[in-house]
Amino acid sequence: MPKILVTGGTGYIGSHTVVELLEEGMEVVIIDNLSNSEREVLHGIAAITGTEPHFEEVDLRDRNATYGVFDLHPDIEAIIHFAAFKAVGESVEKPLDYYENNLLSLIHLLEAMNKFKVDNLVFSSSCTVYGEPDVLPVTESAALKKAGSPYGNTKKISEDILQDTMRSLKGKGVISLRYFNPIGAHPSAKIGELPLGTPNNLVPFITQTAAGIRESLSIFGDDYNTPDGSAIRDYINVVDLALAHVKAIRRLLDQKQLSAFEVFNLGTGKGLSVFEIIKAFEKTTGEKLNYKVVGRREGDIEKVYADTSYANSELGWRAEKGIEETLQSAWNWEMNIRSKNKRT
Ligand code: NAD
Ligand code: UDP
Repeated sequence: MPKILVTGGTGYIGSHTVVELLEEGMEVVIIDNLSNSEREVLHGIAAITGTEPHFEEVDLRDRNATYGVFDLHPDIEAIIHFAAFKAVGESVEKPLDYYENNLLSLIHLLEAMNKFKVDNLVFSSSCTVYGEPDVLPVTESAALKKAGSPYGNTKKISEDILQDTMRSLKGKGVISLRYFNPIGAHPSAKIGELPLGTPNNLVPFITQTAAGIRESLSIFGDDYNTPDGSAIRDYINVVDLALAHVKAIRRLLDQKQLSAFEVFNLGTGKGLSVFEIIKAFEKTTGEKLNYKVVGRREGDIEKVYADTSYANSELGWRAEKGIEETLQSAWNWEMNIRSKNKRT
């Protein structure tokens, strides 16, 4: 069974992907510096799968330490690179931290791929590269827009770096996965999203408000050109998303001489408004949510949702889980961490 290196593997999407890789019988090595996750996540992964992945607490900005992991595991066949800083607002405040962390980490991994002869990489990109798309649903061939934040720009630049590197290296394959809005948690509620401090994203804010940790959800704008006036996104279940990574790894490993850079949209293909998410959450959980409409959030776009036909046909993947099941999983996870009193 192939050995896969997962950077950022104790993080939100990484941990769910590690679970699915282990369930497939693959061996997993995690690199994470725990800057936005906790070591305890490893116990959650082990509780679900019965297997403990290898864990290396390494900062990818440290080239020698990164090389050290490849020395320790010379049989790594593929990499899934999740590790990055991801807070849009913080990236505006601290752009250099974002460029340094997100770009240097990627460069060190590409150097390691060259040095240690690893041929396959799956990269975490984002629909943020499309900005406000001209045509919906948005396809992979849509024009990329100027990034709305330094964070978004690191994704755009990373894709450029990957494309340029692939041109210069023969026999390597890279798949860039452009995520829409990942939400929810593993159905076991043993792993999920653990935002530090006040969440920026909609669903963690909803679950924390329903749990009484936040007083009220602010809806950022009800004057958009959408049926109910609130903004529209494509919310994708994190387990569905994780399963797409298993498909991407299989595709790379099955076609050893791929020598290509491929891009896939990962979403449901369906756009939902903020009000629709609130309604679905209230319906499935029976919880009543306090909310108020406030002004638009700077930098937000009006609507985006994915054309997923390329991932459907080429990757053999599609999102399976419905929005209510997904929001219920987010709520179950919230209840679980609240009962463990991990966060105040
Ligand atoms: P996350 O913060 O939960 O996970 C990222 C992990 O990387 C964390 O565990 C963190 O400790 C680790 N990390 C960060 N910098 C590191 C470094 N220099 N060395 C080692 N480890 C480091 O984030 P996530 O939501 O799981 O996102 C994973 C990836 O998906 C990121 O690249 C993110 O930009 C991308 N993405 C996320 C979303 C989203 O909404 N969550 C949407 C689109 C794209
Ligand atoms: N949103 C909101 N209130 C919040 C957080 C988010 O109304 O407290 C809205 C936001 O304006 C956007 C949608 O919810 O329309 C999804 O936002 P999120 O930050 O989760 O993801 P984004 O698409 O901005 O990356």
